[in-house]
Parts: sequence; C-alpha cells; structure tokens
Amino acid sequence: MNGIPRIVIVICDSLRADLIGPADTPFLTELSERAARFAAHRSVFPSTTRASAASIATGCLPARHGLLGNTMALDEGEGLVCRSAGHPDFPDRMRRATGRTLQVPTLAERLRWHGETSISCANVSPGAAYFQDPDGHGFVYHAAGSYGPGRRPVDDPASARLKKGLAGDRAMTERFCAEIIEERAPSLAIMWLSEPDYTGHHSPLGSPEHRAAIAGADQCARQVFETVRRLDPSGDDILFIAGSDHGMETVSDAIDLDGLLIAAGLKAGPGSRDVVVAPNGTAATLYFAEPDSDRVAKVARFLAAENWAGEVFAGDRLASVGLPSHTAMRVAVTLASDDRLNPHGIAGHCPIVFDPADSESKIGFGQHGGLGANEQLPFLMIEGGGFARGRRSMPTSLVDIAPTVLRHLHMDHDDMDGRALPRDAG
Ligand SMILES: [Zn+2]
Repeated sequence: MNGIPRIVIVICDSLRADLIGPADTPFLTELSERAARFAAHRSVFPSTTRASAASIATGCLPARHGLLGNTMALDEGEGLVCRSAGHPDFPDRMRRATGRTLQVPTLAERLRWHGETSISCANVSPGAAYFQDPDGHGFVYHAAGSYGPGRRPVDDPASARLKKGLAGDRAMTERFCAEIIEERAPSLAIMWLSEPDYTGHHSPLGSPEHRAAIAGADQCARQVFETVRRLDPSGDDILFIAGSDHGMETVSDAIDLDGLLIAAGLKAGPGSRDVVVAPNGTAATLYFAEPDSDRVAKVARFLAAENWAGEVFAGDRLASVGLPSHTAMRVAVTLASDDRLNPHGIAGHCPIVFDPADSESKIGFGQHGGLGANEQLPFLMIEGGGFARGRRSMPTSLVDIAPTVLRHLHMDHDDMDGRALPRDAG
C-alpha cells in the first residue's frame, strides 16, 4: 500500500435499484453486503443521462450547472431551437449561445487545479460522455472522438470501435481495467456503461433481453471491482463507487405536446420559436422567446389541466426541483406515472412527450426523464476509503458523489449542492 488516494467509479446506465438481486446481479448483490449501500438514492430532474452526467461531474443540480436535460433550446442568434445535448457539436453550440458550457467546475477541472488527472471512458451518447468534462481538463475516451487536457484530440482506436450494447461495454471494461486503472492509475477513473439503458430503451423492462443486459453490466462492474481490490486489497487507498444515473418506467403513450400547444393557440406553429418544447422522455421543459410574458402562466395552466401531466413547475417552484427560474426555460412538466406492472412483472408506467427528432415508437419499452418513483430509483454503493458496510436510509442524490470523491482526495468540496456522504453506518 502506497497511501495515494484514488477513486474508481462504475456507472451502470439506467439500472433500477429494485432490479438488483441474486439471479441477475450476483456481484452487486454481494457488493451490497460488504459496501455502504444508499437505499434512498435519487436522480436529478430531468432524470436524463446527460443532465445526470453533469450533476455527477459537478456535484450541482441543473439549476447551477446549466445542462437542463437530454435536449435543450438554445438561441445561437436566430431564436430558440431545440437541440440534442447528445450530439458531439452540442458543447460548442452551448458555448455560442451562453458563452460557456457548464456553469460550474467539474471534478476533472478541480483535480487539474491540484495537478491530478481524471480519465473517463464512456459508451453512452457523446453528450453524456463529454459533459463529464466538456472543457477538456482530463482525458475523455469515446467512440465519437477522444481528447486530453486542453481538448487536444487523442487518436484512440480502442474507443473508436466501441458500439453501444454489451459487446462494446465488455471491450471498454477490458481496456479500462488493464490500461486505465492498472497502468495509468489516475486519481479519478470513471467508466460509464451503456447497459442496461441501451437494451432497456429497445425492449420491455424485465424481458429476457433486458435481464441479460443487466447481468452483463453486473459482470463488467465485477471485473472492475476485482481489479481494484487486487491492486488495493485493504481498500484504504482506492475508493470504489458503483451506481446508476436513474431508473426507467415503461412507456404507456406518447404525447404530441407541440400539437396540443398549437391547437390551444399557445404556440404559433410547428417549428415556431415563440414557445419551444424540449422533450426529455417522461418530462419536458418549455422555453419562451418572451419569458416575462403572460404566455408562461397560460402554458403552465394549460399543462396542469391535462390528465397525462403529473406535476407542473413554473416560477419559484422550478427551484424546488433543482431547475433555474430566470432563464428562457420557464415551465417544466413531469408526466403522470403509475405503478401498474408490465407483462414481465416490472412496476411503473408513464407516458412520454413525443420527440419529432426521434419518431420510432417507444411504447412498451423503458424510458425516463421525469420524477416517477421507478425512474428516480438509481442505486449507489461505496466500498473502501473508510466506508463502513451497511444500509443508509437518509436521502442521497447524484450530486453527493462529487464531494465524496473530493473528500477522499483531501480537496475542498463545500461549494457544491451535494455533500460528502457519511462513512459511518449510523
Ligand atoms: Zn442514463
């Protein structure tokens, strides 16, 4: 043991805490016995991968980091247009529209201040990968392009070949264990698996395909953990964190929110820039060209009267769900979820907001983005670094991961929305 503190994080995208059990996830089940397990862990809102990635990276809610979902309306000089934050050019568009990417520093940047290195490997969308470190303070490896400090492009054939799904996740895990954790040994190494999210979006939750994806993610997490504990058997130096970013609900219906607003006289027409809907799965955020006009209250009232809408947030209530209240985004809605079982016995259904940029039917498959009980059900387990084993019942959130990482590295962490998680079981 050399006494140098390090952190290794594995994110199993979309893995619901209630789907962890001995049959599909023998490793995570074992880990839950020897690790600190945070039983009331929640995602952010919108509970999308890209906003979640930014919250894990910054320790802040979307209100402070500024990435408001998987899609966001940006005004690059010609009015508001909804853009996918998953596209590789999105960080540059965000810089053009707002002058910067994220509004607060990431873990990668904070580590660089101390001369330490972070390395991130991700098999998710380019947006989710890049928003862990959008300004290039550490290394980010991704199929759409890899870069190192200063956003200097790195030729990385191992990442260029990766495709979403289990085969790509397995190849990434091999490389992450051998080259990143063992050889390069950075202070912070993060690996973000595409599964079970990728399969969950294309098959019913709890189906044989979905369960195989969960089992595959569990094997990848085991391989990383075994590498970590071979290098540091005592667990004193390397803090191991396994978690997910959100859960999923089964899609029951798709709501054409643009069409409804146009029919109600609240939006001029398709593609108009007066009111712009940013679909975020089981949630939507709405942007206004005139954010101080009375149209905001009219739209909020209209949404509140719709039976598919769950809660509607506008004005000061946006802050209660971690969203900003003084940007062009003035209304957010989470769709109405329920606890009905799907054909495979998995609880939770919710409609989604139809996304004109992605017209394939999602009905019967998994989705997320809102505040439904099952999509707000990520898991979190922490092992080593002085964490006592056992279940913790206090509410925790994705934003608590970054301060926990910084505390392990003896770095300041008191300016984030989250707080370093307790090592004691109590
Ligand atoms: Zn995700």
